[in-house]
Amino acid sequence: MRVALKECEWETAGEDLVVVFDAREAVTLSDPDGQVAALLSELRRTPQTVAELSAALGAYGFRLSEDDVGRGLRGLDSLGLVEAAEDRGLGDPDEDERHFSNLSFYGTYADLDRGRATFLRPMRAAHVLVLGVGGGGSSLVQCLAGLGVGAMTLVDQDRVEPRNFARQFLYRHADIGLSKAERAAAWVRDYDPSIKVTAVDRWISAPEDLTDLVQDIDLIAGGLDGHPHANLWANEAAVRAGVPYVLGGANRSQVMYLSVDPGRTPCLACDYADRPAEDGSEGIAYRIAENMKLSNPLTGPMAMQVGSLLAFEAQRYLTGYEPPRAAGFRVTLDLREGLTPQWQALPGNPDCRVCRLAPGRGERR
Ligand SMILES: [Zn+2]
Repeated sequence: MRVALKECEWETAGEDLVVVFDAREAVTLSDPDGQVAALLSELRRTPQTVAELSAALGAYGFRLSEDDVGRGLRGLDSLGLVEAAEDRGLGDPDEDERHFSNLSFYGTYADLDRGRATFLRPMRAAHVLVLGVGGGGSSLVQCLAGLGVGAMTLVDQDRVEPRNFARQFLYRHADIGLSKAERAAAWVRDYDPSIKVTAVDRWISAPEDLTDLVQDIDLIAGGLDGHPHANLWANEAAVRAGVPYVLGGANRSQVMYLSVDPGRTPCLACDYADRPAEDGSEGIAYRIAENMKLSNPLTGPMAMQVGSLLAFEAQRYLTGYEPPRAAGFRVTLDLREGLTPQWQALPGNPDCRVCRLAPGRGERR
């Protein structure tokens, strides 16, 4: 394996070497004879194997065995300064150029065991079901496209309306009156033809309306308005399929998101104290909510915040660059509180009818 040095700078300070990868922190290493500085200089010159480095350091006057160099590299790896050279790209120069910043982002998280491309490949292979391409959903679609998701199925039943233009930036004036799902899909095809996209112009009015959509998907993201149970149906579809469900929305001055990792976190149904009774009768909140008419106060900055938060959480699930932040938590950001995130754990319900449907239940905590 060839080892590559990440972008960093260093300076000798007496017997120490001060190395900076992230401008917020300097790492001070003891380097009385300059071995570490020589190793960094060699790595910066070109990515190399342990054997090559051992030989190259001889020119600096250091007799270091391959074991010595290996120990030094593991030390640099523990500081996040080196990565596997072979996996810094997907192997296709055009694709690597297209994903230049995605790869660079994963470079921060890459190490000797996980190269940048090991984060990007699962995103390129992923199929995300996006429920709703309105306020948050249209920004979510744009973020997922930029991240290079492999495939998206976009579900919405609405037409593009003039009032959407406060916040839904993937639509154009000429799209007014046309199917949002179709226009959003067309936007994705124009943006990046390598992304497979399917438009589903459908009203989700019953759980069965989701059945055919959850085949061969890796994640469900979005939020359905319309029927007050729609998000519970999406939750159940995700739990049955055993795929993560990332949900977001807005309420007055607040944006929120949460994620459900079936079998590992409580689900949305656990959280509903006033959920529908087993006999099909409905709680009072549902009955009242069905009659509630809210004029949508969502503006562009808020909608993009929702879409961005959902995309980040989807990215965490799909690439594993860091663990999901909202797994089992409702995270709210209120404009009145400067958008500082507040985490509220979803209450688990050991008797949850939906959680029992998760595949691989035996592995749950
Ligand atoms: Zn549950």
